Amino acid sequence: MIYADNAATTALSPAAFRAMQPFFSEICGNPSSLHAAGQAAKRALEDARARIAHCLNTVPACITFTSGGTESDVQALRSAAAIGAKNGKRRIISAAFEHHAVLRTLDALAQEGFQITLLPVSAEGFVSPDDLAAAITADTCLVSIMFANNEIGTIQPVQEIGAICRQHGVPFHTDAVQAAGHLPIDVQALNISMLSLSAHKFHGPKGTGVLFAERGIRLKSVITGGAQERGNRAGTENLPAIAGMAAALEESISRIPQQTGLLLQRRNRLIEGLSRIPQSFLNGSLSDRLPTNVSFCFAGIEGESLLLMLDRRGICASSGSACASGAAEPSHVLRAIGRPNELARGSLRLSISADTTDAEIGEIIAAVTESVAFLRGMAASVS
Ligand SMILES: *Cc1c(COP(=O)(O)O)cnc(C)c1O
Repeated sequence: MIYADNAATTALSPAAFRAMQPFFSEICGNPSSLHAAGQAAKRALEDARARIAHCLNTVPACITFTSGGTESDVQALRSAAAIGAKNGKRRIISAAFEHHAVLRTLDALAQEGFQITLLPVSAEGFVSPDDLAAAITADTCLVSIMFANNEIGTIQPVQEIGAICRQHGVPFHTDAVQAAGHLPIDVQALNISMLSLSAHKFHGPKGTGVLFAERGIRLKSVITGGAQERGNRAGTENLPAIAGMAAALEESISRIPQQTGLLLQRRNRLIEGLSRIPQSFLNGSLSDRLPTNVSFCFAGIEGESLLLMLDRRGICASSGSACASGAAEPSHVLRAIGRPNELARGSLRLSISADTTDAEIGEIIAAVTESVAFLRGMAASVS
């Protein structure tokens, strides 16, 4: 099997697996317990927090553990909204191509009386800092723009966006779920006030994530209950997953310098190969793009049919985002960059990892080329 859907989820790394193992045997306490077993668990929890804080160039007090990227996004938005409402500021600025975790939460906040401004995305896949500067009003309580897009891989001008937000005194949240492990993230240098991470997107375990919030931002708990996570997130901490996440984040960041060149080489070979297919269109810019992301639209085919044909040949890919596949609606991201509905329906996302070999790249190119030709032939014979 060729796994080329690493933007949907990644395999657990051996280092993360090893880091998790003691928590299924020796270290069995609850970090909230005062006895020795609890205190051993507490030490492990705080060790993971310190290491993750170090990876982001912040302090442990700014790190809250959540159940993943979705919960971190929801909590970031709801916290900023609560602070905004208290200060009479009810506008939130975001962008049309955000993950549904952000967009659906904004829908809910709109129902609750917030004004939502969604910035447009260029044909190349970028939010413009000038558009943001023009959109910020005195009643803006939050700007939320993703670090890198999950469907088309474009990396946003996060530092510039953050600088504009700082100038206006507006907190800046970024969904960095797709960026983490591929790009260095320094929350201070990038002017980030809040940031979401998800462990299973960087070879950590599923079901755990991080919400970074800079000092001065009072988080609103979306899960009510006990006083875990300094009252920011109730419920017994998922310690095995948190330990695995810390190991996976450290490992993936430490590998960025050696791996990026190789990934870019393979990604570019894949893009070149698929560009040779007639009527194929790369989604998103070639520059400022995740080294793992390849996204195309092929005219005259259904992405879903292509996906199933590739699956039969042992290739795991995605047509748009995992949440959107199965739905007939074309991807909101592809619509945001101006792809006509017809073309957007023929989309394919391939997301590679350092485990993707050169031979696999060749197999994918051949399989996609043949499958697209076959599907177009079928369409022509039907009409
Ligand atoms: C996967 C993903 C999420 C959701 O993360 P989960 O941990 O699966 O809830 C949010 N945002 C982006 C950009 C993602 O790719």
